[in-house]
Amino acid sequence: MRFHVLTLFPEMVLQGLHTSILGRACEQGLIAIEAVNIRDYTKNKHKKVDDYPYGGGAGMLMQAQPVYDAYKAVEEKIAGLNKEKEGENELATANKISKPRVIYLTPQGSVFSQHMAEELAKEEDLIFLCGHYEGIDERVLEEIVTDYVSIGDYVLTGGELPAMVMIDAISRLVPEVLNNDVSAEFESFHEDLLEYPQYSRPEEWQGKKVPQVLLSGHHANIEKWRREQSIKRTKERRPDLYEKWKEKNK
Ligand code: SAM
Repeated sequence: MRFHVLTLFPEMVLQGLHTSILGRACEQGLIAIEAVNIRDYTKNKHKKVDDYPYGGGAGMLMQAQPVYDAYKAVEEKIAGLNKEKEGENELATANKISKPRVIYLTPQGSVFSQHMAEELAKEEDLIFLCGHYEGIDERVLEEIVTDYVSIGDYVLTGGELPAMVMIDAISRLVPEVLNNDVSAEFESFHEDLLEYPQYSRPEEWQGKKVPQVLLSGHHANIEKWRREQSIKRTKERRPDLYEKWKEKNK
């Protein structure tokens, strides 16, 4: 799976994502992350990418031209990669026809969720567009964006952290990125439930003991206990999620 991030701060994105599990996944070729500097595409002789908003108001706005040209360069690159693949794999024909999804990170978008991560993890290529300052000229958004996504109801200074959050959550759903393939399957939000409490060695710490059932080796009882704990925890901590789960499991 390939992630393409359109940003004014490529080093921020690359430094953040080329470490730990995702860094290893990149080295192994399971995922690829490229950051494209929008500033490299400006036609302004002073390398400017922003200007005042028409109608007045605070702050600056990223202009349409450099964003559009940076996007076109990535789109062409993806088409080239798919063409190369076409020779090796007949299924790639489908990728050639479908345009990659372009996600604009914005507090005005649908709120990102595990379900959304699962859906996006099925794509071969994803383009993330990071805004800065007061955002981006609406006209280029209308032209290229397929999905408007927010990571929560608060305002950040730029789209880089939201893009990194999304890429992290999506990447760990790509087969083999996590060492243990089953671990993503039984985590929080699977089936709209939070994960059960977990314990490691020692068996007793500061007078607190590991629940006896986990030491019993009785797999059916352990599964039952974990399920009950998941439901209890979801009800206590995320009543909204619990109601959703209850509705689905009536
Ligand atoms: N003026 C914009 C508004 O009121 O909707 C906010 C602009 S914000 C200061 C600058 C950039 O940060 C946005 O263009 C967006 O890319 C990113 N951003 C800020 N908060 C975000 C959030 N909660 N989720 C996703 N992206 C966000």
